[in-house]
Amino acid sequence: SRHPQFAVFGHPISHSLSPLIHQAFAQQFGIALDYRTIDAPADTFAEAVKRFFEQEGGRGANVTLPHKAAAYALADERTQAATHVGTANVLTRQADGRLVAHNTDGAGLVRDLTDRHDLDLRGHDALLLGAGGAARAVAWSLFEAGVQTLTIVNRSPQAADVVADAIGEPARVHTRYWEDLGNIGCFDLIVNATSAGTLGQSLTLPFALAGARAVCYDLGYGKSAFSFLAWARAAGALHAYDGLGMLVEQAADAFELWHHKRPDTEPVYQQLKAHIA
Ligand code: NDP
Repeated sequence: SRHPQFAVFGHPISHSLSPLIHQAFAQQFGIALDYRTIDAPADTFAEAVKRFFEQEGGRGANVTLPHKAAAYALADERTQAATHVGTANVLTRQADGRLVAHNTDGAGLVRDLTDRHDLDLRGHDALLLGAGGAARAVAWSLFEAGVQTLTIVNRSPQAADVVADAIGEPARVHTRYWEDLGNIGCFDLIVNATSAGTLGQSLTLPFALAGARAVCYDLGYGKSAFSFLAWARAAGALHAYDGLGMLVEQAADAFELWHHKRPDTEPVYQQLKAHIA
């Protein structure tokens, strides 16, 4: 039978770090990995996925922008995490041919915060900026990890309400308007899940949001995270982290699903840090 194939689907995809991460994990176990990038515009995504899994020996795929909702929709089965979020960043093909949608983004962020950065999230008051697909994954996982309250702010407030409603804990999850950020107090954890940095835009955030023990986290990395992390340092936050660790951790979950082995993420995280510096 054919060598199992792995891939990452996206559009654009040429700058994806996923091939590098998965090859580095595979090396830890002496696995000769077939992992490629598949650039699929939105209108050909479903067809490309079908071809990959049904004709090309596809066993598993990572899925990134703009396909996460489509990946969720086309799967035959969905994990509980994916169902809560409504999007998928991983697809696996079972022995019976059925495609399963997973979402490992939120778990990746939580593991980066708790394991790599030694943060105990329990009891934290968290502020989440943004209410797109990534914010939705993160909101659910932060809540699962024990944050005390979660405040969600989004430029278009309806989207924030949708994310808050999906969690279904009205006493502990609030939405606020961006204009009110100046008078809603301070937070222990501030997560930037907007795509502003990626788009080359900057956010206007009052310094008062960051409490003395605030940890600030940008889901972006490299240039995309510069502006938010600079704000965090200027605001006096205790720590300011970018999303590289989350990227490596969500990939580790996918790798384990496919190869049933847990990779050591730290050397790969260090390798990527040097790579994008
Ligand atoms: P979406 O396009 O689904 O959502 C974008 C969000 O950003 C929306 O809430 C949008 O608000 C908000 N936004 C965009 N521009 C601005 C601005 N100028 N001011 C305020 N808010 C703004 O993107 P995703 O949720 O999929 O991804 C968000 C970011 O997270 C991306 O940069 C992505 O690269 C990163 N990411 C990182 C991961 C990692 O592993 N490190 C994993 C997944 C994502 P509105 O609704 O008002 O338009």
